[in-house]
Amino acid sequence: MKIQCPYCGTGCGIEVEKNRIKPIKDALCKRGMDFLKPLSKDRLITPLYRPNKSEDFISISWETAFRILKQKLSGLTPEEIYFYISAQILTEEMYLFNKLAKGFLKTNNIDANSRLCVATPPVVYQKAFGSPATPCSYECLENASLIVIVGHNPASNHPVLFRKIANLKRKKGVKVIVIDPYKSETTKIADMHIQLNPATDVVFFNAVARNILIRNLEDREFIERYTENFEEFAKDILSLSREEYHLKNASKICGVKEEEIEKFATEWVKAKSVVSTFAMGINQSVIATQKGLSLINLHLLTGKLGKGRGCPFSITGQPNAMGGREVGYFTGKLPSFRSLYNERDRKEVEAVWNTSLDETAKMKELTIVEAIDEILRGKIKFLWVVGTNPAVSLPNLEKVHKALEEVFLVVSEAYLTDTAKFANLILPAKLVGEKEGTMTNSERVVSACEVVVSPPPNTKSEFEVLIELAQRLGFGKEFSYSSPTEVFEEIKLLTKGRECEYRGRNFERYGDAFLYSDMKFPTESSKAKFNKVSLYIPPKPVKREEFVLITLHLIKVWNTLSKTEKVQEIPPPVALMNEEDAKMLGIKEGEEIEITNPNLNTKIRRKVKFADIKRGCIGVYFNHGYKYTETPANLVVEDKIDPYSKQPDYKFNLVEIKRLKKKNEFLGKLLVPLARKQL
Ligand code: SF4
Repeated sequence: MKIQCPYCGTGCGIEVEKNRIKPIKDALCKRGMDFLKPLSKDRLITPLYRPNKSEDFISISWETAFRILKQKLSGLTPEEIYFYISAQILTEEMYLFNKLAKGFLKTNNIDANSRLCVATPPVVYQKAFGSPATPCSYECLENASLIVIVGHNPASNHPVLFRKIANLKRKKGVKVIVIDPYKSETTKIADMHIQLNPATDVVFFNAVARNILIRNLEDREFIERYTENFEEFAKDILSLSREEYHLKNASKICGVKEEEIEKFATEWVKAKSVVSTFAMGINQSVIATQKGLSLINLHLLTGKLGKGRGCPFSITGQPNAMGGREVGYFTGKLPSFRSLYNERDRKEVEAVWNTSLDETAKMKELTIVEAIDEILRGKIKFLWVVGTNPAVSLPNLEKVHKALEEVFLVVSEAYLTDTAKFANLILPAKLVGEKEGTMTNSERVVSACEVVVSPPPNTKSEFEVLIELAQRLGFGKEFSYSSPTEVFEEIKLLTKGRECEYRGRNFERYGDAFLYSDMKFPTESSKAKFNKVSLYIPPKPVKREEFVLITLHLIKVWNTLSKTEKVQEIPPPVALMNEEDAKMLGIKEGEEIEITNPNLNTKIRRKVKFADIKRGCIGVYFNHGYKYTETPANLVVEDKIDPYSKQPDYKFNLVEIKRLKKKNEFLGKLLVPLARKQL
């Protein structure tokens, strides 16, 4: 039996025979090898309910759970309900949630946790290439002579992808450049590590572009044949008023040497093929779209785009973030990269769904971060969270906890997470490996996930829950699927003629290795587009004790730990500091500090660990929930979002640091979640 690994977006194939795990192609990392182990530990095995959050949960039957769901959903307006689903469920399940919400409950209030990690790439791809599809594949990496890893740490988060890159370097002499304020495990294989100041990527990439232009190193022939808008872009980059892009000024802003910027430009131009891989360092920012576009502009400027030339490769964090993009599970989106606000797109989906989407299209887009405010305003009364843990992972946690406390909360989960502890109704869920469906990985490979292990009794897949619920809500005819395979066929039908036209689901990639192999892009002119990028210089810390807080992902574990903590020791939460910075504040390694965000008036505390992190920055892991700390990292992360992708910024928060003189001297406000009820 086969399955796509349910952890990261690398999407390795796994074969399971009598509980023995074998890789289908590349050797798996530890997470993949261990993926069966957490499935049999500490599972939720019965629906739990409490009408009032001050009460304890009681076990209920599924019949009662469905009655509660029906009664709630039938009694509320489309504006009053919200679905927050996950990139860790199967494509068919995402599709059904989307169909039920937008098509039949007539609400546009649906979003997913990939809003927090890869909401930006589809936006920048759309602006540059005319479609949100990822143009690249792992084959592009194999043809690269230079791989630029921008703001992510594949050695920890995408180990098999990292191994692939390390092997390419070893066997084929591919050069590797890492751009990151933090000297992570990934930098060990780097020929060059550019330790940029946080949020200065736009200045850096534009300074590189300017340097290329003034040295006449741009690829004029490529620009002429395959791109548009070059003049406007070049005029802006070379404008006299853009002094920030001069080497000297850019070097100061970015915190790197002038020679490094020039050398990077030279290496980039010199390479026959450049693949840039990007993830959270680009995406989780208030200027995420600008950062992504400035990187893509560099590919266009130098002709490093196309088969054997290179590409900008968004690496998805979660296993099925790409499947979610394909079925349009974000607010405002429809399957196969269609928009709810485009009449033709709506009609095409309506013909398959047999319903009207006109009412739904009257609702504005409302992403999860914005929905939290709407809950607190009393506009949203019902929230259904599926397979994700917003009580730890969303920014501005104090506000999130208040919202989770106020709303009627349904949580579909396999484990008693910090979010489930806020719930009114918990639905025990099957996990990938226990249910049937498909997933799509970072490089557009669609894989069938089979049932490789028996689920705990009394758990249900989202497919099973939604089919039953739709019937009870009176939509049985439109949800009369006998299996997820039938749902897959409907999704496949909607992909016909689109950039994501599914070929099959036996680990098959849709589209060519480089998606636009004929160099015709789905824009009006069929050309790729330069986008003028706004100058952005981040605010600077002004006080000695002021730092830029960057959230990081703990090595080898997975997100908020609900699975990986079942199979391995979790390192304690620490704050990573540059030794020089610590010395300046009189802080020794192992001492406890208090990290305050004055804008939120919230604090966390951590023991200090020295690390090679850019001076002026402090790194904290977002993974630890309330089992490991009373103060998870996102308590001090503000809920600022990029205006285009609406992705929150986890990489730039100005905080203040104070040494705590003695153990237990922490006198600040400890923010304990409001509803941490014990069962
Ligand atoms: S690299 Fe990612 S997909 Fe591959 S085995 Fe490891 S966790 Fe799973």
